[in-house]
Amino acid sequence: MSLAKRHAVVTGSTSGIGLAIARALAKEGADVMINGFGDAKAIEAGRVGIEKDFGVKAFYNGADMSKGADVEAMIADANAKMGTVDILVNNAGIQHVSPIEEFPLEKWDAIIAINLSSAFHTIRAAVPGMKAQKWGRIINTASAHSLVASPFKSAYVSAKHGLAGLTKTVALELATFGVTANCISPGYVWTPLVENQIPDTMKARRMTREQVINDVMLVAQPTKQFVTVDQVASLAVYLCSDAASQITGANLSIDGGWTAA
Ligand code: NAD
Repeated sequence: MSLAKRHAVVTGSTSGIGLAIARALAKEGADVMINGFGDAKAIEAGRVGIEKDFGVKAFYNGADMSKGADVEAMIADANAKMGTVDILVNNAGIQHVSPIEEFPLEKWDAIIAINLSSAFHTIRAAVPGMKAQKWGRIINTASAHSLVASPFKSAYVSAKHGLAGLTKTVALELATFGVTANCISPGYVWTPLVENQIPDTMKARRMTREQVINDVMLVAQPTKQFVTVDQVASLAVYLCSDAASQITGANLSIDGGWTAA
């Protein structure tokens, strides 16, 4: 297994893409720390499931990614429980869909904190360990919205463009330390995050559910298919491999052709 003895932290991994990435890294032999919100029993079942399915150690830290001090404490906890964090996946994210003049201030603040600032805090805390061992992988789940915009997603598009910039900066700073930093930028992936934005998009655009799926979401994807969480997770595993050691500062699209248009 290619990632045996590696220690990974995946933020926002109680659900969706993050959970798929945590499981895929564990399948390759990495110990993992998962993070995120949800029903305590379901989270514990997910953690135990990783240990049972892949024979690795799995930990859970419930740090709120909107709170910088808690985020940095989570990395310290991971270093203490697993050993140096050498794979860091910044994946936690939320969405809110609203015209800008009605965009709630607290939603703006939460999206910037969770989708952008949390990555600054985890990277800041994890980089000393990676630099010292001259190996590390930082993977940020950005989005097609780190490259292009859509109306009614001002905070999300701003945060994801910011995350792409942070990734490039960190890649340059760490280029000679064996540490890569890259963005994975999915198009629409069928997860609870997508499911949950359908009602607000129906309201903002005065559309039916079917119209939102076909005319807003899949209209952007030339393949007319949703990306799967396992496809995103496979790309994350690849970025952790030695074959990907010269890929850094990249923003890798996995979007059914969306951003080619
Ligand atoms: P999801 O809602 O299934 O998962 C989000 C995860 O983040 C959950 O584990 C949730 O508990 C966690 N989370 C939310 N707020 C948190 C907080 N304050 N602190 C800690 N954890 C928190 O969504 P997903 O679709 O799997 O999204 C994962 C990432 O992928 C996000 O960054 C999202 O922007 C990005 N993304 C998703 C899509 C898509 O179509 N689903 C497309 C492009 C990018």
